[in-house]
Amino acid sequence: MFESEKEQLVEVSLKLYNEKLIVGTWGNLSLRVKDTDGKSLYIVTPSGMEYEKTTINDLIVLDEEGSIVEGIRKPTSELKMHMRIYEEREEINAIIHTHSTFATAFAVAGVSIPMIVEDMVQHLGGDLRVAKYALPGTDKLADYIVEALSDRNGTLMKNHGAVGIGKTLEDAYKAAMIIEKTSKIYLYAKVLGHVHLLSVEDAQKMIEYYNTNYGQNNM
Ligand SMILES: [Zn+2]
Repeated sequence: MFESEKEQLVEVSLKLYNEKLIVGTWGNLSLRVKDTDGKSLYIVTPSGMEYEKTTINDLIVLDEEGSIVEGIRKPTSELKMHMRIYEEREEINAIIHTHSTFATAFAVAGVSIPMIVEDMVQHLGGDLRVAKYALPGTDKLADYIVEALSDRNGTLMKNHGAVGIGKTLEDAYKAAMIIEKTSKIYLYAKVLGHVHLLSVEDAQKMIEYYNTNYGQNNM
C-alpha cells in the first residue's frame, strides 16, 4: 500500500540525513495520503531507527484515530504532534521535524527570527516563532507547536529543534531547508552587526504573490 509515497518518504529522510538536518535517530517525517474511499491515512517514520537503515517496510501507516493499519514498527515518538498538526491544518499533507543545528541554536536561545529574507517570507509565511517548551511526545508540546505554526509553514521548538510543514513532501522539505538556511543567515547577520528587516508591507505583498502566482502551477 502506498509504495511510491513510502519510497519518497525514505528518499527525503535520507536527503535530510545527508544534509545533516537530522542526526542519528532524531527527527521524524510523516505524510497524509487518501485511501480509495477518500479517507485520510498517515505514513510515519518509525521510532528510534537509524535513517540510513530505514526502508519502506519500516514505515507505519495509521488511520485518523492513530491505530496502525500497516507496519511492524513502533511509530515515531512525536506522533501526537504530527496528528495534531494534520487535525488543525487541513491543507497540510507533509510534516518534517528536524534537530538541525542553527535552527536549534535559536530555539535554545529562545530567539525568534524576524522577516529577513524573501524565500523565508514567501515559503514559510512570515517570521519564525519559538514554540514554548514541553517534554517530547506530550499533548502539551503538540498544542504549543500548533499554536506557533498559526499562519506559518515552520516554527522553532524551544530547546528542541524545528518543524517544517507543506502541502506536499517537497514543500515540507523546502520548509525544513529554508528554516535552517534562514537561521544561519540571521546568526551571520547578527555577527556582522546590522540586521535590516523586510518591511511588513513588502512581506505581505510577497506572501500574496507567492500564494497566487509563483511557480509553474498557476499559468
Ligand atoms: Zn525531536
